Amino acid sequence: MFINHNYIQTVLNEAKDASKEAIDQVLEKAQLKKGLTSKEIAILLETTDPEQIREIYHLANAIKSSIYGNRIVIFAPLYISDYCVNNCVYCGYKHNNTFPRKKLSLEEIKEEVSILEKMGHKRLALEAGEDPVNCNIDYILDAIDAVYSTVNHTGEIRRMNVNIAATSVDHYKKLKSANIGTYILFQETYHQPTYELMHPKSIKGDYSYHLYAFDRAMEAGIDDVGGGVLFGLADPKFEVLSLMLHNEHLENTFGVGFHTISVPRLKKADGMTLDQFPHLVSDEQFKKIVAILRIALPYTGIILSTRETPKMRKEVIQYGVSQVSAGSCTGVGGYKESQDQTNIGQFDVSDHRPPIEIISELLKEGHIPSYCTACYRQGRTGDRFMRLAKSGQIQNVCQPNALITLMEYILDYGDDDFYLAHKDLIYNEVEKIKREDIKKLTLNYLEKLKQGQRDLY
Ligand code: SAM
Repeated sequence: MFINHNYIQTVLNEAKDASKEAIDQVLEKAQLKKGLTSKEIAILLETTDPEQIREIYHLANAIKSSIYGNRIVIFAPLYISDYCVNNCVYCGYKHNNTFPRKKLSLEEIKEEVSILEKMGHKRLALEAGEDPVNCNIDYILDAIDAVYSTVNHTGEIRRMNVNIAATSVDHYKKLKSANIGTYILFQETYHQPTYELMHPKSIKGDYSYHLYAFDRAMEAGIDDVGGGVLFGLADPKFEVLSLMLHNEHLENTFGVGFHTISVPRLKKADGMTLDQFPHLVSDEQFKKIVAILRIALPYTGIILSTRETPKMRKEVIQYGVSQVSAGSCTGVGGYKESQDQTNIGQFDVSDHRPPIEIISELLKEGHIPSYCTACYRQGRTGDRFMRLAKSGQIQNVCQPNALITLMEYILDYGDDDFYLAHKDLIYNEVEKIKREDIKKLTLNYLEKLKQGQRDLY
């Protein structure tokens, strides 16, 4: 098994004794943007010197700007079923929680999608509890099809990432054929005794089946996989190091590691209280984790959800987050029911702002919100994406596509004032594009958008 508890613990213990010079050396090496070894990452995780922690933030910010520029990708979750056979101690959807369970019909899915489209969304993450009878793979496939085939006059969903329970190679092959973007699965915790404690008597309780899910997904041909842990269940340093080892395992076995890493922190949910969990992650620890992940895996997207407050989201975007959700509901049918407050969410969220407010703030802060979905539609996935990213060539497509999708958003979802307030920003950014042919193409696409064409990339 690629997660060896003793090894991780030893590396962390040894890192506690690292000298100031050793830490500085790691920070110096990190500037090369070639990633770090697990021992080096452990050294950063154990750093307590405030000045060196400031240096970690500074470096994370510099790495983020050089690779991702000022772009932030926007998405929303779509919960389709809260039937669940598992009893995850931390989750509001646990089997033992008694509330009327719901599974959306294909018609209801289309209604939710229409609401999400009206908010401007182009990328969704499909979420469901685990229930092989009430929410089987055929239902998931029909749901994906329903999402992709919902087309309104405002637009359509162009990328569907999927966050469903660990499954078989055969099922992953079906997901691959359904044209999904990233397959996302959180390990929840890499610490096996904690994992077993958190997932009592359930399908999900099989640690190694869960741990090797991405191996099966990759075997099935899905080459963009998104990992993550639920911070708050076990020692966060142990979790970060384990994420690195998991990434290394995928790189060594399949030639490509995580496409994204999500950083959910435990939130209050029905049937649990936060004081049951001894490893809750403080704001300071959380910021440091995000920054270290950015330094350790410069080319892996970092996803942040509305579990975090607007203030925290604003801050960690500086330290490495590259994708944020916006306007999210974490309940089945939640977008339709959000007005009458009847929806039961999987957990509490802390950023309740509608997407346009989030977009406005991002723009005010100098970010470029991006609804781009071009990469996977152009076959830039897996190691092909990583090669382009590492050579820097990805910049030639990401920045123009971000600007084009932002213009599309502004034209379709903003009013005249919104357009006037932000159009100059787009044109100023186009001016900064170095390659003349790409600059010309981008200007041409912006013109075509104004004339009514859509989905250009
Ligand atoms: N059922 C699938 C599975 O088992 O992987 C999908 C997972 S669920 C829809 C999405 C994620 O929500 C979980 O993987 C878990 O990390 C997270 N989650 C569950 N309860 C949570 C809580 N109380 N606070 C924050 N995140 C939570």
